[in-house]
Amino acid sequence: MENGIPVGRIFGISIRIHLSWFIIFGLVTWALAYNYFPLTYPGWSTGLTIGISLVTSLLFFLSVLIHEISHSLVAKKYGIPVSSITLFILGGIAEIAEEPKEPKVEFLVAIAGPLSSIIIGIIFGALWLTLPIGAEAVIAVSFWLAWINLMLGVFNLLPGFPMDGGRVLRSLIWWKTDDLDRSTRIASNIGQGVGMLFILGGIFLIFYGLLLNGVWISIIGWFIRSAAASSYRQLTVRQLMKGHTVKEVMSLDCSMVEPDMSVKKLVNDHILPSGKRCFGVTLEGQIKGLVVLADVKKLERSEWEGTRVEQIMTPLDQLKAVGPEEELGEAFKLLTKNNINQLPVIMDGRLEGILARDNLLNFISLKEGLGLN
Ligand SMILES: [Zn+2]
Repeated sequence: MENGIPVGRIFGISIRIHLSWFIIFGLVTWALAYNYFPLTYPGWSTGLTIGISLVTSLLFFLSVLIHEISHSLVAKKYGIPVSSITLFILGGIAEIAEEPKEPKVEFLVAIAGPLSSIIIGIIFGALWLTLPIGAEAVIAVSFWLAWINLMLGVFNLLPGFPMDGGRVLRSLIWWKTDDLDRSTRIASNIGQGVGMLFILGGIFLIFYGLLLNGVWISIIGWFIRSAAASSYRQLTVRQLMKGHTVKEVMSLDCSMVEPDMSVKKLVNDHILPSGKRCFGVTLEGQIKGLVVLADVKKLERSEWEGTRVEQIMTPLDQLKAVGPEEELGEAFKLLTKNNINQLPVIMDGRLEGILARDNLLNFISLKEGLGLN
């Protein structure tokens, strides 16, 4: 969810809006302008109704943003960096960089969001109750915002990991059992169950003629279910890599090429005969950079003859690299975070091997296949 439009920064956190957000913003405004306000206040002019619907919708998404900011500020208080908050079709999401290290922190980070939604709901509820009768428009807006924020708070407290309620649940089990893996497994299973209930509930509503609500609830259920399943999958992968280092998995038969070799020679004498996709570029035993198949593909075929390897390689200072003793899990994070397919394994300036995504996936499926973990 990194690819949103940046709209500003709050507390050092970049706020982004994903394109899908405009769909939900439009839908909420439309539902307010054509349904809620005309039914409750039929006397309003069309212009007034649309204007108030837009303001209400904006205030709602501001509430969602405050919900995410609350998570983020608590995370930051405990030293967990938060890079960005993105608003998208299903609400908001804060990019919290790492998993909390203790149950107390996880509990506080998770509960902060729903709590802020409930507090916002109570504030609007109090406004609704205390405003004088004449302030009709403000009363109408306050009532809707009170409801929606209370619902948002309660909905997020449902125990579906990785939703807030699921995290609260996990932190409590973690606190009781002192076993993060087991708590994640339990919370993920409950999350998948909650997602399934939503899907079934949605299908039920569709049969009862509430098509739009039914479809919407099923989509949310599917989202909860797949998020829970994938966090379980991540856990399995993490567990399988635990205690292993890069040197166990990297490929050793690393080919070296010289920087002044032509790309044509690289293709004909090295890539084609070996089927390898990645070569270390070395000069007198020292690693200078890395050249991969994708670098070659960027070139026109006619340019192969006249281009040297060092012109297309990624130089050492721009390379993400790991050491042979590095934890496998850390290397995996580096691969996924930078969205790259291989990491050179370097020690004392020498290329020791290459850790490719394929190596890792093979290793994981082999361990899984043998029933080891
Ligand atoms: Zn939340």
